[in-house]
Amino acid sequence: MNHDVAYQQCMNAGCRATFGVTESLFACPKCGSLLDIRYEWERIAVPKRLADFGARWATRSNPLDFSGVWRFRELLHFCPDRFKVTQGEGQTLLQCADGVAQYVGLDKGRLHLQYEGCNPSGSFKDNGMTAAFSHASMVGASRVACASTGNTSASLALYASAAHMEAIVFVGAGKIAFGKLAQALDYGARTFQVEGDFDDCMARIKEVTEALKLYLVNSVNPFRLEGQKTIMYRVLEGLNWQVPDWVIVPGGNLGNSSSFGKAFGELKELGLIERIPRLAVVNSAGAPTLDRIVNEKQVRYNAGKFDADVIYKDYEWQDQTHLRPHTIASAIEIAKPVNIDKCLRALEICGGVVRSVSDADIMDAKAQVGRHGLGCEPASAASVAGAKLLIQQGVIGPAERVVCILTGHALKDPDATVGYHTGKYPKGKAVKGKRHFSNVPVPVANDTAALVKAIQS
Ligand SMILES: *Cc1c(COP(=O)(O)O)cnc(C)c1O
Ligand SMILES: [Zn+2]
Repeated sequence: MNHDVAYQQCMNAGCRATFGVTESLFACPKCGSLLDIRYEWERIAVPKRLADFGARWATRSNPLDFSGVWRFRELLHFCPDRFKVTQGEGQTLLQCADGVAQYVGLDKGRLHLQYEGCNPSGSFKDNGMTAAFSHASMVGASRVACASTGNTSASLALYASAAHMEAIVFVGAGKIAFGKLAQALDYGARTFQVEGDFDDCMARIKEVTEALKLYLVNSVNPFRLEGQKTIMYRVLEGLNWQVPDWVIVPGGNLGNSSSFGKAFGELKELGLIERIPRLAVVNSAGAPTLDRIVNEKQVRYNAGKFDADVIYKDYEWQDQTHLRPHTIASAIEIAKPVNIDKCLRALEICGGVVRSVSDADIMDAKAQVGRHGLGCEPASAASVAGAKLLIQQGVIGPAERVVCILTGHALKDPDATVGYHTGKYPKGKAVKGKRHFSNVPVPVANDTAALVKAIQS
């Protein structure tokens, strides 16, 4: 398959081994590093202007033009159309959010929220899953698997039920939000509640997929990350193909941030954009591995010559000290992000920064998003809390154009939301700190006069 226009390549600068796109590897067999999908662009008829992708909306009766992922198919050209699996993903919305802008300290018209909650399974993961399932169907996979903090399993389960594949998911017992667990069960995934957290599930799934030859759709799957690039294409589309100054995204396993860096690097290489926006990746303070590696230990990608040993030792230190991540933002409750190498690369491409925000700040930011017409789950609001922090620190100026990615739907984690508003968080998930925007339900008698009085008070 090395005559194909797409191929897989090891990201390790000292290795760079290549493999065909019909192989399902998920790590370089020679050195163990992550793989990238690469293209021979000159052999692909990439539209000359980004607006040509947008024009496909006129032909949306074609499912591949309707899909907000496959509308950009020349930019992820690894799979013949007949294998593509689409559920109408990527019908998402970039909304100018002046109310939230005021909260974070940006001028009017300068903050946009990219709402990925309106994907078929309610999170951005569907962008990646349609790509991974297209690859899985191309290679004839029948059993797909993942470890998940919730949304990957919900998305996997949805696409597996649509593609008639067997879904196997590992979730940490008690570690996943109810909305997400409900989805995995309802879509028919075989769901294993592992006694451990996400990082444990991730370690086990790698071994089990190897032993049973299951098709793995965690974000170590490089095809999945190709689909997630389209979130950035749609951000540009929402801005009438202008490049924002900043893109801010929550960081968990770091697949999303990695794919954003790759998306912008490729668009620049293709001459489709003139400059690359800056990227901010926001950790929860309860799971701040990337923040520690970048800001305390000062690791930089350094064109591929980064000090991988620092990361290795950090992960080892976590094991030795029994350090465990803990945050209400369960989607980013991850302490050993598998895509950290690629994220460091994305930070280099985009002149990126990393910050951590507290759970209290995350929940306040989430409430603000809800108050101003969107709504999201806790992890998503880390991007908004991160924007506020970076503006306070003077890293982002009030007149800069900022896009925060809202990664998941508000209904994913109702327990966290009700916990914030009532002060009664789910067991083990109590958040310290003031709840500045709490909206407490009012108990009232089943009586008209009492209701009238209560409303007027
Ligand atoms: C998966 C997920 C994240 C984290 O994304 P990574 O690519 O793992 O960094 C953030 N928010 C939500 C809602 C998610 O589902
Ligand atoms: Zn390699």
